[in-house]
Amino acid sequence: MSEPKSLQEAIVYFSNPDNCVEYLAKRRWPKGVSCPSCGSERVSYNGNRRTWKCSTHHPKREFSIKVGTIFEDSPISLDKWLAATWMLTNCKNGISSYEVGRALSVTQKSAWFMMHRIRLALQDESFGKLSGEVEVDETFIGGKARNMHLDKRERRITGTGGKDKTPVLGMLERGGKVRTIVVPSRRKGPLQKEVRNHVAAESALYTDALHSYDGLSQEYGHKVIDHAEKYVDGKVHTNGLENFWSLLKRGINGTYVSVEPFHLFRYLDEQSFRYNFRKLPNDGVRFSYAVSQIVGKRLTWEKLTGKLPSVETCPN
Ligand SMILES: [Zn+2]
Repeated sequence: MSEPKSLQEAIVYFSNPDNCVEYLAKRRWPKGVSCPSCGSERVSYNGNRRTWKCSTHHPKREFSIKVGTIFEDSPISLDKWLAATWMLTNCKNGISSYEVGRALSVTQKSAWFMMHRIRLALQDESFGKLSGEVEVDETFIGGKARNMHLDKRERRITGTGGKDKTPVLGMLERGGKVRTIVVPSRRKGPLQKEVRNHVAAESALYTDALHSYDGLSQEYGHKVIDHAEKYVDGKVHTNGLENFWSLLKRGINGTYVSVEPFHLFRYLDEQSFRYNFRKLPNDGVRFSYAVSQIVGKRLTWEKLTGKLPSVETCPN
């Protein structure tokens, strides 16, 4: 059976647990299986238990495909994990934990936690700077306080553009990737610091007329489009980022309804992943890319929420 290219094919394919293990192992260990504890390649597979055993004697010498991945310690089966990953990486506007919970017969709380682990795996890990022609723009994402607990309300990030809004800076390399960062404010200091961190000097920089960008022209080919006058002047515009913001807001407002500022960067990672991998021949390729990033990442409930599992209730 060939690897899946659509959701329907994925459901059928991953209903076979051997297919799940094979698909993941191929991406995790492209050069052959190695022990997550000691790195040895002298391992043997037990098809009945679907685990490998390292030939070196040490604790945890028997391991499953889940060990050392975002799936580790999860009682949820791989067919459900992979279906959730498929939906999150391929649904254009995202998908809520309520929908995933219903579709996969897991609780909404489990679905919410699963999706945050998957978002962690989707984080862009390339550290090189953007270059060439780069659009820079900022926006505010509304945080609705009504579903928040008091302690969360207190640790919220406070922006300067309305008290329930969180400022986000976006940088888009034309023909390349978008990067988004939650910033403390739209003031000159934090915005220019991020621009310098993420955009190579000498690049062409296109921004709107916000004064926080004043002074960047010494390091960059900085061109400004004044939106009070017009939106496009030849190459000088920020339309690529405007498109990204509208996709992001459609997902956040339409699908997730309320996103706490504390978790906002994870939704930004999710939308950026889909945007950066939007031009692919089919959904299976995008999914495969996401799966290949899953290795070596763990996200515990405590790290995600700052709390123990029993006392947490979750929003969308
Ligand atoms: Zn070993």
